[in-house]
Amino acid sequence: MKDEAMIRLALECGAHAAAVLPAGQIVRNAEFREMCRSNRCGVYGRCYMCPPDVGEIEDLMHRLEDYDRGLLYQTVSPLEDSFDVEGMARAREEMTALSQRLLDVLPPLTGSHALHLSCGGCGLCRECGRVSGEACRHPDRALASLESYGIDVYNTARNTPLHYVNGPDTVTYFGMVLYGEKNNG
Ligand code: SF4
Repeated sequence: MKDEAMIRLALECGAHAAAVLPAGQIVRNAEFREMCRSNRCGVYGRCYMCPPDVGEIEDLMHRLEDYDRGLLYQTVSPLEDSFDVEGMARAREEMTALSQRLLDVLPPLTGSHALHLSCGGCGLCRECGRVSGEACRHPDRALASLESYGIDVYNTARNTPLHYVNGPDTVTYFGMVLYGEKNNG
């Protein structure tokens, strides 16, 4: 019942699709930290919600074990073509906005025992306080990425009806809300 309500809220907030899976089906892989260290996104060490500041990947993967269920949700946004950098940035902003809406409406369902992860780089501030040496400006709203917690989104999505790729000239972003006491239904 709660799972269905979680999915419904995600869709009402603007998710393209959403599904709930048992936390045990969330695929994890510590090798994602190497991908972050390679800094292809240019944000490594420049955001409190990204490595290395977000924490050691083994510790964060361990934290996932505190939860019973995971709501996986996604946005699918159109691009002009695969070089549409502005379209990708816009799609990322849409995902950040969706995650923030869910942050407001899900607590009555999840209670306080929940962990919300979104796409990488937080994205709430034009430039993260990490760059200028300021404290995080929105510590209660800043969200880390699924990959920073070692979640293999591609293989996790395969355990749900959600597709990792959604057609040519689209970009897909994922978020996840973990909830429920472990071993407590
Ligand atoms: S809320 Fe702002 S300062 Fe805090 S992690 Fe996100 S981008 Fe950085």
